[in-house]
Amino acid sequence: MELEQSIQYLKGVGPKKKAMLQKLGLGLVYDLLTYFPHGYEDQSVLTRISDIIPGERVTVCGTVVNVSERCSARKMQMLQALISDGSSYMQIIWFNQKFLKNKIKIGTRLFVTGKAAYAYGGHGQYAMSQMSSFEILEAEDETANYCRLQPVYSATEKLNQKFFRRLMETLFAANPEIPEVLPENIRKRYMLVGRRQAFHQIHFPKSREEVEQARKRLAFEELYLIQCGLLALKRQICEKHKGIQHTLNSTLVQKVFSNLPFNLTGNQTTAWHDICKDMERSVPMRRLIQGDVGSGKTVLAMLALVKTVENGYQGALMAPTEILAQQHYEGFLHSLTGKGIRIGFLSGRLTKKNREMLYKQISGQEIDIVIGTHALIQENVHFARLGLVVTDEQHRFGISQRAELEKKGDVLPDVLVMTATPIPRTMTLTVYGDLDVSLIQELPPGRKEIRTFVRVPNRRRLIYEFVRREIESGRQAYVVCPLIEMKEDVPRPSAEEVYEELRHGIFQGIACGLLHGRMKAKEKESVMQDFYDNQISLLVATTVIEVGVDVPNASIMVVENADHFGLAQLHQLRGRIGRGRQQSYCILISQQKASETARERLHIMETTANGFALAEADLKLRGPGQFFGSMQHGLPDLKIADVLSDVDILLKARQAALETMENQEDLHYVMGILALQYKEHFFKITAT
Ligand code: ADP
Ligand code: MG
Repeated sequence: MELEQSIQYLKGVGPKKKAMLQKLGLGLVYDLLTYFPHGYEDQSVLTRISDIIPGERVTVCGTVVNVSERCSARKMQMLQALISDGSSYMQIIWFNQKFLKNKIKIGTRLFVTGKAAYAYGGHGQYAMSQMSSFEILEAEDETANYCRLQPVYSATEKLNQKFFRRLMETLFAANPEIPEVLPENIRKRYMLVGRRQAFHQIHFPKSREEVEQARKRLAFEELYLIQCGLLALKRQICEKHKGIQHTLNSTLVQKVFSNLPFNLTGNQTTAWHDICKDMERSVPMRRLIQGDVGSGKTVLAMLALVKTVENGYQGALMAPTEILAQQHYEGFLHSLTGKGIRIGFLSGRLTKKNREMLYKQISGQEIDIVIGTHALIQENVHFARLGLVVTDEQHRFGISQRAELEKKGDVLPDVLVMTATPIPRTMTLTVYGDLDVSLIQELPPGRKEIRTFVRVPNRRRLIYEFVRREIESGRQAYVVCPLIEMKEDVPRPSAEEVYEELRHGIFQGIACGLLHGRMKAKEKESVMQDFYDNQISLLVATTVIEVGVDVPNASIMVVENADHFGLAQLHQLRGRIGRGRQQSYCILISQQKASETARERLHIMETTANGFALAEADLKLRGPGQFFGSMQHGLPDLKIADVLSDVDILLKARQAALETMENQEDLHYVMGILALQYKEHFFKITAT
């Protein structure tokens, strides 16, 4: 059986089951093979019934000596079996499982795992009614076959554990072809088990050691292949394509530099030197600037774009939202006025006529710097001489989109990526393995640390009275409300409702504004403009303000229903304040009934200002799957490797990938594997 075959060819998978499996994303044999258990139940140790300690999880194997049926007090069908293992007796109880009646008979051998309790009445000392698993041993089954770690899969009501365990057995019985994908010498050097063995062991381990061995091998494979792909991509770009050799700093850059209203911080200076060095080399630049919100990345983008313009090229700056693109555009106009630099704003909403005019100007090099959103990577944008592409807040773009933009020019342009996503260092390697990284770890001087408080709703009135006093002394404030999802049953006021409530209540006589995603773009812009111009003092908004909005006079943020946000998102939101010289305040209103974890998470916000520390804390609390999954990084999802705990494996995989890059034969082999495994997906990533 081949891995690309549909699971419908497996025994036990009819059209119904097939449809249900499809919903879980399981369509091919390969999908099933990589549907890894998320844990194991230890059934490798059998407990004698006489040794049971009530309340502990145990696995017991015994023979049925008596079966009875009755109705429980709550009218539930009850099936009781008394089993013996020679040491003592125990009752096994099932509720409402009529179909078992014909299967459980005197003499049947049962293998059960669960928590045992003292039995009430009846026979036997102990009873077990909530088995996490039980098996009826067939005559030919040796007890030994069942003494193992039972895999635990993400199951559903209809597709339960037992179904998945059986399905995996069927799968391996069908003898799937599982070819090796690691070069032999890498596998040997890093002491990894073979691929077929690893897949078998992960689904049917005989011991914890086997699980670890298999996991290590499969995580290594996953990380190694991605690393190879990214390194190959980097090399391909450096070798095959000629880059643009920007010349040294010169007058225009110097002029803009000396016009800046501030001095660069130490980290900004280092990053700027990195950028200059890269741009002045003949190989294309591929650099990531990673710095917390408000750390001052934009100015670096601007300087780099001026540098490319001064060298006779065009630059593009791509932002994730219309509002942010617009803001960059206005900022650039302001900072670069009188320098002879022509700046264009390409918005998805330009009229057809204006858009076509802009296209013309771009292809005729009548425009030097183009700022825009996704619209920039649409088909009919042709640059005459594209020298530099900057993408802001990279996490919003897939790598494939980045690649798309890089294809726009005839020569390969330099690439600068800016991100505030506080990805822990080790993850950076995985996600941005093809980029060099400059870190900005300090904020510009003179910033006061934002003071953050978590409060319960019955303090709302006091909170808003405080906000009103701050507004009256000249500040501006944000009130952020989570989006309301249809599936939630808890009533929660929408941004509109909060807006109406506040402006007719505590904030009567104060200019209030409302901003949410369903408003027309024009309306949104005019509200935002009024907020910039301090015509609006209180802005009630959904998360549309999350990214990049820069109004230094806004120093207060109230987040309603804060427990509905992830920490990374709250941090992004909070980054909208603390940009001026005044003391800023962030007040998170949490539900009275918020869960323990929700409280713990919000507490991290109170105590942690640094985005990186926060991300690590969040990661620990939520697990990497969610954190990683929520970032649209454009790479294939990691199925087994855990970027937080598999650091060792990641570093080894990286090392191995570097070795492979130096070994023609292995490299050729791995590229073939990548092409096969990721198909168009990886090509999309690597297509530059
Ligand atoms: P981000 O890294 O989040 O994109 P910005 O580039 O928007 O941050 O910068 C935030 C604010 O800090 C802007 O108002 C910017 O003008 C200001 N800024 C940037 N660098 C410095 C600096 N070295 N000294 C003082 N202010 C700075
Ligand atoms: Mg920014």
